[in-house]
Amino acid sequence: MNKTGKAAVFVGANKPFEIREYPIPEPADHDLVVRVARTNICGSDIHLWRGDGDLKNLGTIYNMILGHEMVGQIAKQGKDATRDSLGQPIKEGDRVVFTYYVHCGNCKACYQGNTHMCMMAISSVLRPADMPPHFIGGFSEYYYVKSIQHVFKLPDIVSDVSAAGANCALSQIIHSLHVVNFSFQETLVIQGAGGLGLFACAVAKESGASKIIIIDAISERLEMAKRFGADHCINIMDYPDPKQRINEVLKQTNQWGADVVIEVAGVPAAVTEGIQMLCRGGRYLEVGCVSPGHDHPFDPSMLSTQNKTIYGVSLYPPSSLKKAIDFLAQNESKYPFKELQSHEYRLEDINQAFEESDPHNKNKQSSVTRASIVSL
Ligand SMILES: [Zn+2]
Ligand SMILES: [Zn+2]
Repeated sequence: MNKTGKAAVFVGANKPFEIREYPIPEPADHDLVVRVARTNICGSDIHLWRGDGDLKNLGTIYNMILGHEMVGQIAKQGKDATRDSLGQPIKEGDRVVFTYYVHCGNCKACYQGNTHMCMMAISSVLRPADMPPHFIGGFSEYYYVKSIQHVFKLPDIVSDVSAAGANCALSQIIHSLHVVNFSFQETLVIQGAGGLGLFACAVAKESGASKIIIIDAISERLEMAKRFGADHCINIMDYPDPKQRINEVLKQTNQWGADVVIEVAGVPAAVTEGIQMLCRGGRYLEVGCVSPGHDHPFDPSMLSTQNKTIYGVSLYPPSSLKKAIDFLAQNESKYPFKELQSHEYRLEDINQAFEESDPHNKNKQSSVTRASIVSL
């Protein structure tokens, strides 16, 4: 086995990633070192890399490794790291996924069992790559898994290509729909047909949704959404005015409005629009806007007078990651999960991968929907 491994280090907004080499650490007794097989570029990675909102200085401060939608094989195990979080025996070479955040175990959120709400959960990814154990992000050849993180062995039926999207996108959707108790025979509007939006179609379909309506400006994405279970698509190009889109949702829901609207476009203006698409008593799910410093006018009477509720969701508990794997195992052949990752790049080509994945890149030539950095 090699003594060192490569990692793509994020050194500042809009700067090229630097490929650095670090010593592969020896895992502590209960920890693991995973050989990363592939990591998808998530929208939030692109936000960080572009330095959106108040996040400008993160790369400069932390010299960190981005990437969290990953899957890999166990490369080294501590002497007591012999079972996954469900008690299944694990050994070198086993394919695993794991929660990518490290919670503290000592705060109010942690003791209430909401480890994903822990203050440390998000900041745990902001560790400098130059500090041991170095490998703390997915755009890397290795990843160091601490014992407090949850690890799940993958069943053979779930391919690496599908499993990479389980962490983050699919788990996030499964948890988000659980938070609003999305139920059998309810209607759902999805704002945004990116990775999260497409997974939302499939999860809502399998949850018994009576109608799934999805909104986006790119017709290829909407076509894909139909294959993921969407019943009705609203193309922003055909309905450029928010009022037209709201009316179309009302028309599609017998003038009631939707039971649940989920925002996965990352557009603040979509929130005001989406709340108007809800039925009385409807639940709004805010997931997509993750860059601080962007706002949009908002009339609170839209909530009070119509008994509507907004839920904000970030990260997910480990149980959602397990559910995501089971969901993929049950539905691997039913939905085109493998087509979600449209392009693959080597770790050394990560700069090209980000350039080509950036939706704001005017010179973008290719139609990258979700790119994967493949390092195995
Ligand atoms: Zn905590
Ligand atoms: Zn993500």
